[in-house]
Amino acid sequence: MKRAEYDVLIIGLGIAGASLAWKLSQSNLKVLAIDSKPWNRFGDKPCGDAISKEHFDNLGMPYPQGKELEEKVEGIKLYSPDMKTVWTVKGEGFEIDSPSYVQRLTKEARDRGVEILDLTTAMKPIIVGNKVEGAVLFNRRTNETIEAKAKITVDATGYSTSFRSKLPFEFPVTESLDDKDADVAYREVLNTKDEIDEYPYLRIFITQKASPGGYWWYFPKGPNKVNVGLGIQGGMGYPSIHEFYNKYVDYYAPDIDKNRLLVKGGALVPTRRPLATIVWDGVAVIGDSAFTVNPVHGGGKGSAMISAYCVGKAILNAFENNDFSAKGLWNANECYIERYGAKQASLDLFRRFLQKLSDDEINYGMSRKVIREEDLLEASANGDLQLSTAEKAMRAIMALGKPSLLFKLKTVAEYMKKVKDVYKRFPAEPNGLMKWKYSVDSIILEFNKALEK
Ligand SMILES: Cc1cc2nc3c(=O)[nH]c(=O)nc-3n(C[C@H](O)[C@H](O)[C@H](O)COP(=O)(O)OP(=O)(O)OC[C@H]3O[C@@H](n4cnc5c(N)ncnc54)[C@H](O)[C@@H]3O)c2cc1C
Repeated sequence: MKRAEYDVLIIGLGIAGASLAWKLSQSNLKVLAIDSKPWNRFGDKPCGDAISKEHFDNLGMPYPQGKELEEKVEGIKLYSPDMKTVWTVKGEGFEIDSPSYVQRLTKEARDRGVEILDLTTAMKPIIVGNKVEGAVLFNRRTNETIEAKAKITVDATGYSTSFRSKLPFEFPVTESLDDKDADVAYREVLNTKDEIDEYPYLRIFITQKASPGGYWWYFPKGPNKVNVGLGIQGGMGYPSIHEFYNKYVDYYAPDIDKNRLLVKGGALVPTRRPLATIVWDGVAVIGDSAFTVNPVHGGGKGSAMISAYCVGKAILNAFENNDFSAKGLWNANECYIERYGAKQASLDLFRRFLQKLSDDEINYGMSRKVIREEDLLEASANGDLQLSTAEKAMRAIMALGKPSLLFKLKTVAEYMKKVKDVYKRFPAEPNGLMKWKYSVDSIILEFNKALEK
């Protein structure tokens, strides 16, 4: 068996792993990054490929350019189930060619000294005492088994969680996912028959009938190409995603040319709050594997980049202090919670509420402005649903036909605030984690009960 030693081992080169490799390539650390796929398939995973521009600005990540950028997005049009209410939410973003962008980050990281191995799979962790100290890898290109020791090992394995799930149960980063806290999603990329109307705008169709617990999307990739798909809530016993796709695709994407199908595929998306901790002794977790996806819209690329940024900073700090323990890496949690995690937890509650609404309630809520564009914007930017007393009274009148809807909305707003407050009290040290996690889990349970009423 071949043996090698590194400062950092990154497992998985999707957007999360590639962003971290890119960031760490600016340091002097000895980094190995691997992926089971061949180079030309890095970043190739089913996705809507939409990312808000602010993520690149906030994290100092390079904008997609050339082939990587398929369309500059100017905003989103949100359709009510009956299609009678359309909200236009402005906001800059990109429709990207994910493989090209991820491969560019990886290539730049390699050019600056990060070692990259494709067709290489992490088979099992190396545990010494209570610490992770690397992984046993298998390289299919050379048919070699490699014992790769590392001071810090990063799981960026996506939804598979294929590394962290093999760690001993006592590691809190082994937390698993309830099926109902995931969406099954499927999309196709096709050419259209005609030029797409207002193609810099993404379209989202909210409909429990055609995508229960999720939504349909129509994301143009330029004037004649579109990414169209849907997500539905997992664990509910719904019919297969393909059944929904085939039944409704002509309705939501009437202009696609089915003879010019470019790509198709589906995958699962976690839609909950992040892992209680994204670091432990000698190990960190980023991207889908750490459940960093936005629970409401299912976008996970931007927040995967945030988690990579926070873990990258924590790794540099750990090397400065020569401390690779959970404590030494702990500021990754603080950074992620501040930038995204607290909001994500409050959106986890909002998501549970939205998934329980009927199409009728959504039509009513959107047309009578019981929920408004501003609320959604505020909720998606900060995870807050603020309802002042005057507003509540006004909306009560507007919601006269559906008092229970307003009542539930008030409860949701209260709990969203509650959970954010708990996230503000994230423990300063790892030994406070379990008690804190218990208070988060209790709020979720309480909230679920309140929604049932
Ligand atoms: C249909 C669909 C539509 C979506 N639409 C959007 C959208 O429009 N915008 C958005 O922001 N997000 C969207 N998402 C979510 C987004 O795709 C993910 O959040 C994001 O791509 C996750 O990136 P990642 O790097 O964490 O994981 P991945 O991209 O899954 O990368 C994980 C990598 O790890 C590798 N790997 C796994 N195990 C091992 C191992 N043991 N050894 C070596 N390598 C391993 C895999 O080969 C893979 O390359 C969508 C998801 C789906 C399914």
